[in-house]
Amino acid sequence: MNFHVLTLFPEMIEAGLNTSITGRAIDSGLISLNAVNIRDFSEDKHKRVDDYPYGGGAGMVIQAEPVYKAYGYLVNHIKLSKEKDEEFKRPRVIYVTPQGEVFNQKMAEELAKEEELIFLCGHYEGVDERVLEMIVTDNISIGDYVLTGGELPAMVMIDAISRLVPGVLNNEASSQFESFHDNLLEYPQYTRPEIFMGKKVPEVLLSGHHANIESYRRQQAILRTYERRPDLLENAELSEKEREYLTKLIFQKNLDIYS
Ligand code: SAM
Repeated sequence: MNFHVLTLFPEMIEAGLNTSITGRAIDSGLISLNAVNIRDFSEDKHKRVDDYPYGGGAGMVIQAEPVYKAYGYLVNHIKLSKEKDEEFKRPRVIYVTPQGEVFNQKMAEELAKEEELIFLCGHYEGVDERVLEMIVTDNISIGDYVLTGGELPAMVMIDAISRLVPGVLNNEASSQFESFHDNLLEYPQYTRPEIFMGKKVPEVLLSGHHANIESYRRQQAILRTYERRPDLLENAELSEKEREYLTKLIFQKNLDIYS
């Protein structure tokens, strides 16, 4: 999978993603990262890419032209990287913006199916609307708060998508059974030693009985989701037995409230 990032701070993207698991995935060729500096496409002699907003107001706006040119260069570069007889599909362009749909695991799973993805990072007050209308296919936010630039959001999304690319995580199962899979949070995890400052690891996890361990973990996942993110449970896929367990939890909570 190939990630391309249109940014004013390519060094930030490279430093952030060329480490740890994503760094190893880049080294082994499972993913690639190509950060393109929008400033390189400025015609201004001082390489300026921003200007005052029409109509007044605070801050500066990134101009349409260098963004459009950087995008054109990138699409051409992607085209040239394809085999002659390979069909060229225009890649999705994600503008990271607080005005977009909020990113989640389901979106990461859907985006992980793409072969090429382009991220556009804004800065200052944002980007001239006209170029956004021309090139952007998806507007995505990482949450309801405003950051100084789109580099961190792009890195967050690239990290979440990369770990779903087959081979990026050593253990395939570790991306399949974790938080948000099936709309449940993951069960609590423990490692050695068996007793830490008097606190013991739950007995069932030491039993070696796989069916019991699995059913214990499912119950813990339901309990944790109920306590921390009850909104997720509405869309969780639960067996009849698990629904009964959840009903008991709700009943118990109501008892606690009224006792
Ligand atoms: N004036 C813009 C607004 O009110 O919507 C905010 C601009 S913000 C200071 C600069 C850039 O940071 C944005 O263009 C966007 O690329 C990025 N950004 C900031 N917050 C973000 C968020 N929550 N999710 C994704 N991108 C964000």
